[in-house]
Amino acid sequence: MIRNEKKNRIHDEEPFAGQELSLEELRLLIDNMISPFSYYRMIYDEEGRTVDYEFLAVNRAFEIETGKTREEIVGKRALSLFPETEKYWIECFGRVGKTGISEQISNYSAAFDKWYKLLAFSPKPEHVAVTVSDISNFIKEQRTLQMTAEELRAQQQENYRLAHEEPISGLPNRASLYEAMAERMAHKPERKGFMLAIFTPDNLAEILATYGSVLSDEIMRAIAQRLKELVNPPDMFFSMTGTDLVLLYSSKCDTVEARRTLALVNEAIRTPIKVEEGVFYITASCGVACYPKDSVDRDDLIMKANLALFQAKELGEPIGFYDEEIGLELLHRTRIRNELPKALEREEFELFFQPQISSATDRILGFEALLRWHSAALGDVSPLEFISVAEESRQILPIGAWVMRNAIETLCQLNERCGTEFCMAVNVSGVQLRVDDFVDQVLGLLSETGLKPSLLEIEVTESVLINRTLHAIEKLNALHKHGVRIALDDFGTGYSSLGLLKDLKVSTLKIDKVFIQDPSAAVLTKMIARLGHTLGAEIVAEGVETEEQLKFVRRAGCDRVQGFYRGLPMPLTALERFIALKEGR
Ligand code: C2E
Ligand code: CA
Ligand code: CA
Repeated sequence: MIRNEKKNRIHDEEPFAGQELSLEELRLLIDNMISPFSYYRMIYDEEGRTVDYEFLAVNRAFEIETGKTREEIVGKRALSLFPETEKYWIECFGRVGKTGISEQISNYSAAFDKWYKLLAFSPKPEHVAVTVSDISNFIKEQRTLQMTAEELRAQQQENYRLAHEEPISGLPNRASLYEAMAERMAHKPERKGFMLAIFTPDNLAEILATYGSVLSDEIMRAIAQRLKELVNPPDMFFSMTGTDLVLLYSSKCDTVEARRTLALVNEAIRTPIKVEEGVFYITASCGVACYPKDSVDRDDLIMKANLALFQAKELGEPIGFYDEEIGLELLHRTRIRNELPKALEREEFELFFQPQISSATDRILGFEALLRWHSAALGDVSPLEFISVAEESRQILPIGAWVMRNAIETLCQLNERCGTEFCMAVNVSGVQLRVDDFVDQVLGLLSETGLKPSLLEIEVTESVLINRTLHAIEKLNALHKHGVRIALDDFGTGYSSLGLLKDLKVSTLKIDKVFIQDPSAAVLTKMIARLGHTLGAEIVAEGVETEEQLKFVRRAGCDRVQGFYRGLPMPLTALERFIALKEGR
């Protein structure tokens, strides 16, 4: 409520400016005022306290405002007419009537549910005139404005938070990291070095898959909270994606203290996390790149820390520092990625064939087709390097189709020319098995070339069959039903070998070379061979390099032998010579 005071009684002030007005004119003027106007005689008790007031006159606006006619009003007392009249008003008018000092107040009237601004003045003692204006709209506007200002401020704060905070971990986000890095990099490199360490939990994906994102987010938040308390500014944790934790550490990389801090962080992450669902054990890997040693460019530095992280994961080490060699490896991979798409049309691929020999008769049973890439730009590239790139880019689809056709056609020619029934093993990637018409493609090729299905053996590794939702097993079983042989490659190195054998119709188990070449694995090799035979599968020993190994795999019960000792992978011309020599054909 606002109060203004001013003395304004007849004879106290300057007379009304302008010409003399008749009483009638004055009455007309007052009656046509937009604002409600009323005139009272104040009523005091013996002790001089204001108790009420009596209406002497009101104008038309007052009638409209109150909804009562002047006949109903004039001569009546305020409290009898409007029992909810504010006590505050009565007291104020009483004061004005007594002192002659006019007052201006703004306050709320419960009787009319409105905000009013009143000007009360006293033309003669104990008489008060009041003009009223309804300021409800103005007050409402003020309030809205005030509220909007508050909301705006809150919104701005929230926007800032959203723009600078990663929502899952609650840590400062990528934008904040960039700002912090820029600030540090603004210093001369020679003076200020810093370390960028990226941590990622190793087994969060597993928790996400088993328990869902609510829990995995909660765990991430709990870890972030822990880490926050571990370092002091200017060292700080950030998170770029919600599943990574980035430490910006103001120290040179190679200090004992830096390494100790990294180990401490790893340990903090490893400490079991208790949530409602139970206790969870998280491990993390860490990749580190140093400024300015590894790079003076922000994105490059982050990339290098990620590379170091990737490398650490591959090696199963908790912490990896960036080094130049990892960079070169990546460069090579990038080159492969760039050159690979041109390889098919430039006819840079060739199939090599490695013989598989019967361990009982020592005769050739068939071959495994092995892909070779003679790249014009990179020289010969090993399939171990380019197959995974081709899988990532899905180029393995046209490449794999080329391999399949080439292998089948070559086998048909060989068998026709030699009058034999050699068998051809072809490696198939998991990516190829995901294509809907894979089965039709293979069957189509068989009917087109007239090759007996039983002379084709498709080699898959256990790892491609792990994710059973891919229907890969169904596809392989469908081919098996048509007589195509299915070989499980690198057997024993994958994950769930035994569970897989329950569902997949395998014709052949290929025991991986690590078993064949390790004398201490002899018992295992024998067991795998026995298991395979129980399932009705043939056993191929891979990587047989010596006479000794050959004798051993024979004893262990392996049916076929494949390895450098009996035959290297070779191009078709060499293979034809090999067959002629060995089989006398
Ligand atoms: P893999 O299917 O296990 O093929 C056997 C690998 O062992 C071949 O390597 C072969 O050259 C090598 N090898 C054969 N005998 C011996 C031996 O006595 N000692 C040793 N140490 N190694 C031996 P390669 O040709 O470099 O192929 C590597 C891998 O690339 C293959 O492993 C296979 O997984 C993949 N690959 C090759 N060709 C194809 C293809 O056409 N399609 C697909 N998807 N993958 C292929
Ligand atoms: Ca193979
Ligand atoms: Ca193999």
